[in-house]
Amino acid sequence: MRAYPFLLCGLLFVGIQYPVASAAEGQIVISGELRPSTVAPEKNFTGKVRVDPAFATKPPARAYGSYVTFEPGARTHWHSHPLGQTLIVTFGTGLTQEWGGPVKVIRQGDVVVCSPNVKHWHGAAPNSAMTHLAIGERDENKSVTWMEKVTDKQYNAR
Ligand code: MN
Repeated sequence: MRAYPFLLCGLLFVGIQYPVASAAEGQIVISGELRPSTVAPEKNFTGKVRVDPAFATKPPARAYGSYVTFEPGARTHWHSHPLGQTLIVTFGTGLTQEWGGPVKVIRQGDVVVCSPNVKHWHGAAPNSAMTHLAIGERDENKSVTWMEKVTDKQYNAR
């Protein structure tokens, strides 16, 4: 049955919005074409931000990763993560801040570790785009708690 492998692939992805990897399936290749880029929603971000899904996992694993690309000046709103988050800067120069702390410059190769439930934001520097791989774990399907906008005054407080 020549069509069988294609049918199997189809079944693997039916009902899964975000293709996941599982050891039980052996080696699988998940085409990047099945993980289209999306525009980050205005309600949680300032400026132009693109999200490119990197990977997800099936329960009981709960890790996920996304590449997030911020145009100059773009940033997240204030937020926290129930299980924390790790950011690996893969391109450009950005800024990040935890509530009550200074605005810090982050550059390609830097790793930012955000502890659970610590209010923070991250984004591009004013004159440079920035891409980071954001890795986190979902806590009962929730990976982030969104809060208020980062004002221009807060963003420029360096
Ligand atoms: Mn974060």
